[in-house]
Amino acid sequence: MEDLFANQYPAANSKNLYADIILPVPIPKWFTYSVGLDIQDQIGIGYRVMVQFGKKKILTGIVAKVHQKAPDVYQPKPILDLLDDFPVVNALQIKFWSWMSSYYCCHIGEVMNAALPSGLKLSTESKVQVHPDFDFDNPGFPMDDREILLLETLSKHDEMNVEQFDQLLPGKTSHKIIKSLLGKGAILVYESVREKYSPKTEQRVRLTSKYIKKEGLLESLFEDLKGKEKQEAVLLKYLQQVSVFQKPEANAKGLEKKVLTDHGCSPSSIDTLVKKGVLESFKVLVSRFEVPSVSDHGIELSPVQGEALQQIHAQFEEKNTILLQGITGSGKTEIYAQLIQDVLQSGSQVLLLLPEIALTTHLVHRLQKIFGDKMGVFHSKYSDNERVEVWQGVLKGKYNFIIGVRSSLFLPFDSLGLVIVDEEHESSYKQFDPAPRFQARDAAIMLSWMHQAKTLLGTATPSFESYYNAQNGKYGYVKIDKRYGNAELPHFFLADILQDKKKNLLKLDFTRLLREKIQTTLNRQEQVLIFQNRRGYAPYISCDECGWIPECEHCDVSLTYHQYQDELRCHYCGFKEKVPISCHACGSQKITTVGTGTERIEESLSLLFPEARIARMDLDTTRSKYGYQRILEEFSAGNVDILVGTQMITKGLDFDKVSLVGIVDADRILFYPDFRAGERAFQQITQVAGRSGRRDKTGDVIIQTRRPDQLIFRQIIAGNYNDFYRLEMAERKQFFYPPFVKNIKIITKHKDFKTAETAAKFLKNLLMDIAAKKIILGPEKSLIGKIKNLYLFEIWIKLDRSGKVQQFFKQQLMDRIAELQADKRFRMVRFLVDVDPY
Ligand code: ADP
Ligand code: ZN
Ligand code: ZN
Repeated sequence: MEDLFANQYPAANSKNLYADIILPVPIPKWFTYSVGLDIQDQIGIGYRVMVQFGKKKILTGIVAKVHQKAPDVYQPKPILDLLDDFPVVNALQIKFWSWMSSYYCCHIGEVMNAALPSGLKLSTESKVQVHPDFDFDNPGFPMDDREILLLETLSKHDEMNVEQFDQLLPGKTSHKIIKSLLGKGAILVYESVREKYSPKTEQRVRLTSKYIKKEGLLESLFEDLKGKEKQEAVLLKYLQQVSVFQKPEANAKGLEKKVLTDHGCSPSSIDTLVKKGVLESFKVLVSRFEVPSVSDHGIELSPVQGEALQQIHAQFEEKNTILLQGITGSGKTEIYAQLIQDVLQSGSQVLLLLPEIALTTHLVHRLQKIFGDKMGVFHSKYSDNERVEVWQGVLKGKYNFIIGVRSSLFLPFDSLGLVIVDEEHESSYKQFDPAPRFQARDAAIMLSWMHQAKTLLGTATPSFESYYNAQNGKYGYVKIDKRYGNAELPHFFLADILQDKKKNLLKLDFTRLLREKIQTTLNRQEQVLIFQNRRGYAPYISCDECGWIPECEHCDVSLTYHQYQDELRCHYCGFKEKVPISCHACGSQKITTVGTGTERIEESLSLLFPEARIARMDLDTTRSKYGYQRILEEFSAGNVDILVGTQMITKGLDFDKVSLVGIVDADRILFYPDFRAGERAFQQITQVAGRSGRRDKTGDVIIQTRRPDQLIFRQIIAGNYNDFYRLEMAERKQFFYPPFVKNIKIITKHKDFKTAETAAKFLKNLLMDIAAKKIILGPEKSLIGKIKNLYLFEIWIKLDRSGKVQQFFKQQLMDRIAELQADKRFRMVRFLVDVDPY
């Protein structure tokens, strides 16, 4: 890509000025438009503009560069409109987007799409209206019922958009009808652009200032209002709430209209007073966020934490990035807080990334107490308006410190001093779909580098990538292996599932040891966490006679049984169906469930411990915005004895009363067909175990497995990350896995099996010819060979780690894909590129 900063400032009064625009379309380049005289003084990098794209489309784009070089190949169209008085994105952001698009092999328009909250993008919707020349009584052509319906509805409205017609006409036929009516000259279709962001406002009223300034005026007003009791009541109520004479500034702020009506004032009387000029009515913008009060919660580090902080400071002298490995409960949050405070005092911005805010309310509240309204929170479940508000808050300097999920990387920071990535090992930092398929931890390190800031990666169980970089000196490394207040790490027990099964001691998936431990914990009125890494009731159902398993109609997977709704569901496309009464293959009625999900564990527990209060936390119970919060609040209030959940419960929960953690099936985590399975098992089991016992209490952890002899269990129990790492890494090196190579996965998708396969084969052949050190595997049908009626084939590339090789190969790769897509046979094939896939 060209140099972003060349020719940034155009010469004054120049006539031929051009702007390169990033548009939200998947096309690998910037588009040059001409800049009209009227906006030449104003336009600059980061401004939003409206431009025509193609024949009809009007799009919002972002100015990436302003220059005087006319494109040689085409006559540029003019920019239609400049949308803002100030740039919404800065040059650093555009640089970051460019890096992301080239590193993750996607188009910069796709990055822009991910980066801008949709409230800042204008939506183009096709609008439809009746053609002014159209005569209903004399249409000049035969109309069918649907055409009549559409025209009649349309004539009652000034305009409608296509979406509204879709609701009107069954089966999504509206496009066809619109097209036919358009051809007959009965309607007009045009593009309309509307701004999506709607700031939240509040209606307020205040006393007109003359009543304060002129003495006696207010008294005579009351005389005038005699007999008009309702109006009098409004005025009295207002004066009671706002002491206008003592504090004229309070009157300037006025009072929310709603406060008056809430106190029984009549809205129409308020309006009358406004009309009379007694009260003034006005609107103010209000924040969507409650501002928490800063309490004087100081930060006081323990000696061990203070020592770690010293080391961090010292190592930042030489390294840009530090890995902080602190065991669960060591108090990493307090260390973060101290670092953040220092950086904020120096005037720089701070970003703290978290895998999922809802699961770390404890951490967020702690930091909110320290940083108050200087801190902005960027939640994954925020509405678009809320996102825009955080965006504007960063832009205008209201928030110097953001705590947020991975998309907060795109906020308009201009002077980051520190980026912290908490739980850096979390695989949810990786975005799967759509592009950009970025790893937020890695992207954070790049962003931080662009700002010349420092990065701190915090975790109890480092990712192999980060640990590798710490070991070879690229990152600094600081370790804390003591819990705060000397709380002890939990005791581990392995429970042998097969042994218990043989002795008939296994009841509803629970070994005797785990059942007994649960019972004693309940007896002590303490709490239990039960971890099962699969949601739903049972992985699938199956016919006992012939082995038939119901599968999704659209995907190549078996359907998961959800007992609560008594239905089968596809976890890939959302397809649902009722549970069949008899086998579709042989007609037998002996259909049973196989395997165990969270729903079934919950049921088993309620059978085994009928007196216990049980709750479940997984994707199915936490879909709503405050879903997590409700469950966590119930649990921390002590209204729940046993909480069952998926990996959601492995995250930063910190509850004093949890003294037992049970892992129902550790083998399920270990024997997953993926080179990261071991790493992930170590992390997940260690993390969930870390939830057991705090402060003065030592907790227990029970791991149920069919293979208690495995080495990894001993390493987890001993907390021996280093040993585990060394052995696993030897294998990764031998078999060419990351971090020793760079992986790139390419998926081809098409509704036709053969086409998807052929496209993948062709691509592989093209890739083989690229002169770069690499191994190419596949194409092979994906593990799930069909999703939503599209067949999937994948190619895996193991690429040399050197930056030069990668850059060259990726560029070639994108060119080859473009080449294939230009081929008629493969036009409809989708090529998904995933760099550093998980
Ligand atoms: P980690 O994130 O490293 O697992 P936390 O930051 O959650 O650990 O800390 C564990 C517990 O110890 C929390 O309840 C926290 O409030 C407490 N704690 C840690 N450090 C301090 C400190 N310096 N002062 C007071 N409480 C602390
Ligand atoms: Zn059958
Ligand atoms: Zn499906």
